[in-house]
Amino acid sequence: MLQQKKQPSNSSAAVLILHPSYFRSMSFSSTLLEQAVNEFSKLPGIGKKTALRLVLHLIKQPAEETQFFADTLARMRKDIKFCTKCCNVSDTEVCNICSNISRKKQIVCVVENIRDVIAIESTQQFNGLYHVLGGVISPLDGVGPDQLTIEALLHRIKADEVEELIFALNPNIQGDTTLFYISKKLKDQPIKITTIARGIAFGGELEYADELTLARSLQNRQPVASYVSMK
Ligand SMILES: [Zn+2]
Repeated sequence: MLQQKKQPSNSSAAVLILHPSYFRSMSFSSTLLEQAVNEFSKLPGIGKKTALRLVLHLIKQPAEETQFFADTLARMRKDIKFCTKCCNVSDTEVCNICSNISRKKQIVCVVENIRDVIAIESTQQFNGLYHVLGGVISPLDGVGPDQLTIEALLHRIKADEVEELIFALNPNIQGDTTLFYISKKLKDQPIKITTIARGIAFGGELEYADELTLARSLQNRQPVASYVSMK
């Protein structure tokens, strides 16, 4: 089952690789090991091979470190909450972004998931609040408006007198469907609705951009003065 891989001549290190068939029918000498590998391999992007490597790493760690790792996961799963205002993950009923008095509560950025909040926060360019939808409308995947936090958003807009809604959704059919659905619901309310700019990515090259992206970049062109002031 174990094979010796021939290394390039400039490398003296011999690397043992496992034949792919080994992973299709992994036979374990320990049921505990097998169960751990099976659990790790349920994680997104983790195959059996990676799961085995992670589990073997944990076996080599001091027992108390592995225990702390397991306790952290269990505590995170048990105690984590969702902010009652923006639906972001939180340790408390209201997250530290919503409870920060220096942030502008009248501007709300609508995002698909928690990863988007982290990405926007990392830019340090946004000082409003967020609303996490928990997904986007996607009939093909069986996701309708009722499965998202749209009602909570509509309620919040009224209750908190939100003045501007910035949509920061992925530029695809599902993102646009969600944007149009929520905009329609708000058509009679005095609220400014915007979306983040769409176009050529910074560092991208025009000749490799598709027609739609290039067309949107032209439509959403910026005065050079405002572009320079962002740098
Ligand atoms: Zn919050």
